[in-house]
Amino acid sequence: MAEKEDRGPSTRSVHAGEPAVQGSRSITAPVAFSSTFPFERTDELVAFMRGEITRPPEYGRYGNPTVEAAEAKLAALEGADAALLCASGMAAITTSLFAMLRAGQHVVLTRDVYRKTRLFAKTVLARYGVEVDIVEPEAEAVTAALRDNTKIVFTELPTNPYLRVPDLGAIVAAAKKRRIKTIVDATFATPVNLRALEHGADLVIHSATKYLGGHNDLMAGVVVGRSGLVGAIRDALGTFGAVCDPHTAFLLSRGLKTLGLRVERHNQNALRIARALEARSDQVAQVWYPGLESHPDHGRARALMSGFGGVVSFELRGGLAAGTRLVDGVRIPKLAPSLGGVESLIEQPALMSFFDLSPEARAEIGIREGLVRFAVGIEDGDDLEADLMQALDGV
Ligand SMILES: *Cc1c(COP(=O)(O)O)cnc(C)c1O
Repeated sequence: MAEKEDRGPSTRSVHAGEPAVQGSRSITAPVAFSSTFPFERTDELVAFMRGEITRPPEYGRYGNPTVEAAEAKLAALEGADAALLCASGMAAITTSLFAMLRAGQHVVLTRDVYRKTRLFAKTVLARYGVEVDIVEPEAEAVTAALRDNTKIVFTELPTNPYLRVPDLGAIVAAAKKRRIKTIVDATFATPVNLRALEHGADLVIHSATKYLGGHNDLMAGVVVGRSGLVGAIRDALGTFGAVCDPHTAFLLSRGLKTLGLRVERHNQNALRIARALEARSDQVAQVWYPGLESHPDHGRARALMSGFGGVVSFELRGGLAAGTRLVDGVRIPKLAPSLGGVESLIEQPALMSFFDLSPEARAEIGIREGLVRFAVGIEDGDDLEADLMQALDGV
């Protein structure tokens, strides 16, 4: 049998966190629908409080066995010793940042991070006296923004919607010299395609709503890293309260068991779609997919990642109206935000996440009017490509 450290992502996600012998002989981890976990007697309570025995925490906000099973899978997938599940990706991000920062400190974010992450930093953190700089997703820009009071560098990898891949090794090296923590939101990559902790990141965050859950049927988020740091964030979560419930954790564990298979198919389908779009340069001005030789960060993506994920962004020459005709012309992908589920989803960022901004304000932050984001699902590649091409013919 392969040693635990040598096992592949699918072996890890199927077996990690499952007790060797289930009390019920059930092959799956049981769902503990319980908000409180009673003690036999006061001596058990006292022994637990002193840390002399291990058992579930006394109250559901501090932990739950079903949640812990999913956390163990996620830690195993990232090669980490701890993972903390939260109620959503945003709960993971806001809880981590609130737990790690105090007034007077400084955070560097890379541009085109998830819009709500940027909004949280710019409005909420700023209200609590934390300074925020937003820079290009390039190691040089990040390094130039570091100051004496910088505490955290936060980047996505790849970013949204242009799938930029910053030089993580260079960012980590610059941050470590100044004892700054690097956080990577690796939602678009998944632990199958990227192991950011192995490249020196201090924390990896995922919106588990996306690929990890994988079925567009749950919301959750996770923070993964060393147990000391994750433990401090766990303590904060116990106070802030945005915990993951056991039913969601069960669905997440169920989804994680097929993560390796699903991501393999997402990678294949998306590369195929990206190539097909690139061959339609009459209508498509540019395609952004890190697996394409034409992507500005292709070399870095190849060095850091073993696959390039399921999201393809492209700009239609016909602008916003052409994008609308395409999005309304496809028959398989649904018109919806989000990504990472089995179902293909398609959207125009200008009309979905950035509807409230004027075209000029969108241009300022790099959101082009003709941009379409295709979150490629796990359907048959032949069907997806034929469908997209018929819709493009109708544009
Ligand atoms: C969706 C997403 C989030 C937010 O996650 P929720 O689960 O929706 O709260 C954060 N970062 C990235 C990159 C995302 O795609």
